[in-house]
Parts: sequence; C-alpha cells; structure tokens
Amino acid sequence: MPQIDTSKVSRWDLHGRAYVVHIQRTGTRRTVRCATCGWHSGARFLPWLKAQEHLAQAHQATVDPSNRRVPSARPPVPDH
Ligand SMILES: [Zn+2]
Repeated sequence: MPQIDTSKVSRWDLHGRAYVVHIQRTGTRRTVRCATCGWHSGARFLPWLKAQEHLAQAHQATVDPSNRRVPSARPPVPDH
C-alpha cells in the first residue's frame, strides 16, 4: 500500500486568525490543500513554499506561529 504522510504549514494573519495548509505526499506527488478556502495545487518541489505563498496572497497570513519575534502578531486567545 502507498505510504501517505502529511504535514502542514500554519500561519496567522495580523488579526491572530490561524490558517492551515496541509501537504499530502503520495509517492512522488505532493498536493497542497488549504483548509480554509479549499484551494489546492500539486507541487513537485517545495510544497511548503507554495503553501506559504498561498497563505500570504489569499489570506494575508504571513505570521509564522513558531516564530514569535513578529511584534504585531498576537497568538490566538487560549480558551480556559
Ligand atoms: Zn486558502
């Protein structure tokens, strides 16, 4: 059976909304799919780059949540 492994790229916009693009790999094919708007595209190389590009252009989501150095970025409010 084919090996399927998925990863994802998540970005926040400046309002703290989170967007996720899933990257699915089946064999040598990679598909990137936006969980927010349903956009998807095939990518042979650098699917992460393609995902970031989509997030930036379609959603203005350019804030990397793993990189807290962006001063205007605010993390989503955790529910408690
Ligand atoms: Zn999208």
